[in-house]
Amino acid sequence: MKIEKDRVVRFHYTVSERAAHELGQEPLESSEGRDPLAILIGHGNIIPGLETAMDGREAGEKFEVDVVAADAYGVRQEGLTQRVPKKYFKDARLEPGMQAVLPTNFGPRAVTIQKVGMSVVDVDLNHPMAGKDLHFAVEIVEVREASAEEVEHGHVHGDGGHQH
Ligand code: ZN
Repeated sequence: MKIEKDRVVRFHYTVSERAAHELGQEPLESSEGRDPLAILIGHGNIIPGLETAMDGREAGEKFEVDVVAADAYGVRQEGLTQRVPKKYFKDARLEPGMQAVLPTNFGPRAVTIQKVGMSVVDVDLNHPMAGKDLHFAVEIVEVREASAEEVEHGHVHGDGGHQH
């Protein structure tokens, strides 16, 4: 069964910054030793560049792909600094350069701490992976039809997906 919209894909992946990969450095993250990740195709579950690279593939296939920042977590935008009250952060030990999770009206958002004051914190709202070209090594484990409920919810249920 080929990968296409409204099908569920379970896959293993290893992701690196492309520049680091070319130098033979350690990957950022890998599903090795864990359960494969499960996603529903065509619902924005993963970055567009990786989803495009999966199109038409089948279980058992392995491939590697470079994804430019614009097709990954986006390019870095200037002027995305915001000053927010310190109390918004649960982590009391904030330091410049560290990543933290900021609750927003649109859900939790990963930010980078720029400057820590007495009661306010300057944060960079760019995604920590913004502006980074990535390299993926992927192994497709399983491709199946999604249930009507999964398509309606826009995510996978069961193994590797939502348990609700
Ligand atoms: Zn659901």
